[in-house]
Amino acid sequence: MNQQVLVLIKPDGLKKSLTGNILTRLSETKLEIVAAKMVRVSRGLAVEHYKHMKDKPFFEELIQYIQGTLHDRKKVMAMVYWGDNAITKVRQLAGATNPEEADPTTIRGSYGRITTKGLYENVLHTSSNEAEAEREIKLWFQPDEVIVDLYPTKIIEVKAETKRIWA
Ligand code: ADP
Repeated sequence: MNQQVLVLIKPDGLKKSLTGNILTRLSETKLEIVAAKMVRVSRGLAVEHYKHMKDKPFFEELIQYIQGTLHDRKKVMAMVYWGDNAITKVRQLAGATNPEEADPTTIRGSYGRITTKGLYENVLHTSSNEAEAEREIKLWFQPDEVIVDLYPTKIIEVKAETKRIWA
């Protein structure tokens, strides 16, 4: 069954120069990358992405973490992996949310840590199920940024649009 999954390399992963290592590990899945970009994460995007965590005591820290404030790296790398059983394959390689509990051979087990304030810094995010994958992919990517048709789209007319272009 073909599935798609959002993968974010979080600011700690970028700061630790782990992009290559993480992509190499994920390539073991033989899944296809169908979208990729660097994103400067606004507070609005961060809060929407983690809205299911808003009652957690570490929510504010989590927002600062994904925005890169904690690591002085104000960006994440966002990707969509696509292929057979993608969600389980990527989550198995990523390992458990708590990096201390994650199998040491997994990405989080190898590279994650718990901060002195108790936040799990676990170097990457991966969608947990199909519904979350759909919500998250639609939040992080526009249809034309993904090279396969994942979800239905519609054409709308946009009037009086302003946008930034190269000067
Ligand atoms: P996952 O990222 O594995 O899907 P969650 O959606 O439950 O896990 O949590 C989102 C993020 O919040 C985690 O990746 C981690 O950075 C942080 N987190 C989750 N649970 C805890 C916790 N109990 N203590 C500290 N940080 C946590």
